[in-house]
Amino acid sequence: MILHLFHDRRALADVATLKVAIEECFGAFGLQVRESGYLYVPLAGHKLNAAKLLKHLARASCRKDALWLVDRELFYPEIGPVLGCSAKGAALLYGGLDPDVLAREALHEVGHLLSLEHCPHSCVMRLSTTPDEAREKPARLCHKCSNRLALKTGLERI
Ligand SMILES: [Zn+2]
Ligand SMILES: [Zn+2]
Repeated sequence: MILHLFHDRRALADVATLKVAIEECFGAFGLQVRESGYLYVPLAGHKLNAAKLLKHLARASCRKDALWLVDRELFYPEIGPVLGCSAKGAALLYGGLDPDVLAREALHEVGHLLSLEHCPHSCVMRLSTTPDEAREKPARLCHKCSNRLALKTGLERI
């Protein structure tokens, strides 16, 4: 699978560093990251409606697998603030998070794109709703999630 990595105008996040982190975690499962450049956010306001943006991303990326780093905080209708979110091949992430948290949440969202679900173990797929919670989890998959992904992709974990 090829993941298309888009960023917002000011590129708060270090896109090249994230590409390396994502490929380190998921490259063994056949994932490649492509830096796909700038994508305009067509919404006003201090906080971005993540549900609307996910739909926009799916259209803008022609439904390719994509992760979009945006420069404003995100909220999901009826859920509240989120660090990132994903649906059907499209994922968003707030690019202004600390680098440690950002890397973990990027891996988490990519895990969802690869059809992993939330995991209760010491694992990057553990749900975190705040930066502190995200910092407490490791920046890697647990053995269960690795094995699940290896089965799905048909590749042995390296
Ligand atoms: Zn999640
Ligand atoms: Zn796990």
